Amino acid sequence: MALRFYNTLSQQVEPFEPQDGKTVRMYTCGPTVYHYVHIGNLRTFTFQDLLRRWLLYRGFELQHVMNITDVEDKIIRKAMEEGKTIQQYTSQYETAFLEDMDRLRMQRPERLVRATEHIPEMVEAIEKLAAGGYTYTSDGSVYYRISKFPDYGKLSHIDVSGQRAGARVDVDEYDKADARDFVLWKGRRDGEPYWDSSLGAGRPGWHIECSAMAMKYLGDTLDIHAGGIDLTFPHHENEIAQAEAVSGKPFARYWLHAEHLMVESQKMAKSLGNFYTLRDLLEGGYEPEVIRYLLASVPYRKKLNFTFDGLRAAATALERLRNYKLRLETGKFSGDANSAALDATQKARAAFDEALDDDLNTAEALGAIFEFVRETNTAMDEGKFGAGNAKPAQELLDHFDSIFDVLRPKQKEGAICDAEVEALIAERTQAKKTRNFARSDEIRGLLAGKGIVLEDTKDGVRWKRK
Ligand code: AMP
Ligand code: ZN
Repeated sequence: MALRFYNTLSQQVEPFEPQDGKTVRMYTCGPTVYHYVHIGNLRTFTFQDLLRRWLLYRGFELQHVMNITDVEDKIIRKAMEEGKTIQQYTSQYETAFLEDMDRLRMQRPERLVRATEHIPEMVEAIEKLAAGGYTYTSDGSVYYRISKFPDYGKLSHIDVSGQRAGARVDVDEYDKADARDFVLWKGRRDGEPYWDSSLGAGRPGWHIECSAMAMKYLGDTLDIHAGGIDLTFPHHENEIAQAEAVSGKPFARYWLHAEHLMVESQKMAKSLGNFYTLRDLLEGGYEPEVIRYLLASVPYRKKLNFTFDGLRAAATALERLRNYKLRLETGKFSGDANSAALDATQKARAAFDEALDDDLNTAEALGAIFEFVRETNTAMDEGKFGAGNAKPAQELLDHFDSIFDVLRPKQKEGAICDAEVEALIAERTQAKKTRNFARSDEIRGLLAGKGIVLEDTKDGVRWKRK
């Protein structure tokens, strides 16, 4: 069966195709950089990474935009407490977030965009809403009048018909029970950062940034919009109300929401104080790959109950896969491919792909891999695994790892990548040309220290790792 996803909008599993059949235009809500992200947040980002990889594997091109929320109620409060500008305050956590992404081997979206760099786009969107009669001003702030948008509630499936007209809310986060006119532009307040604009001095509410930035980079109608389930209301509901009122077109075709990571039956949340950051776990000696494995192992629409036993079980499971990989790489197998082992490999590959096509069912996909490992391990024990079986088995493991990305050994601390080596060699060649031998020797020494050996040949410099 073809690729399919559960769409929060229709509350059904639907076959997926991008609107132009080729490029998936995807927007995912990124972090609010007021603190280190916790592993609950990272569960949602891991899901988004798996989604990216599977869409690419399925042959689509991808335009993926993720925002960084760097102006918002909590950020402003924290920055003021520490006597910093919001930029000073958020940049440390933005850097930390990117480091966390790297440690968990998440691919970078095609674009990462900061809210504070898109204030004019947000103002323009609010002006359009005002021209369409969707807004009103009170005490210098601009509000969205939800009664003007008849589809309000269609994503979170709530009925707002009994809602008191004019009741409004200024804070960025609130509950479904409080569905109200929400703030688009907050009038300037003492001590808070502000921007001058046609709407008056002030700053944007949280919800407008995603509508404005998504439409700027991806057009009026996205193929996929994703985020954690808590964003469904009010954030995504408000994004729809804003975007559709501006463009008159559907904002996103598929809405995908990741369930929460839980601790003792409660959502992991900074406000509840029951959270672990990635750093906490790494300091506890847990490998980033084990954490990635754990976060990826539960299908994204199921709650993931975080425990240290679960983390240890993930380490054991990963160990098993790595041992198998080692056996495959170092074992001595002879003879043609055994047909039963070949069959097991092919079946596992089909089951793996089918599981991920089925709304990214990662648990089933892992099940297929473990079944294959069990069967072919037994075949090896019994001498029923020939040299011809090794390559397809290796290919299956590589395919698995191109999505889950947990087997590849980690780069040594301080290791240098090929591109960096090439850049230093180019700099050394240039230094020699300008007879700057001190620098060229320095570079040779630096590379030697990283285990890179250079050989000057008549065709240029050759290099290898020791
Ligand atoms: P925030 O930085 O609060 O805007 O959240 C970043 C992302 O993490 C959003 O997509 C949230 O929905 C998601 N998120 C927050 N808490 C959890 C949790 N306990 N489990 C999974 N995802 C979460
Ligand atoms: Zn958003």
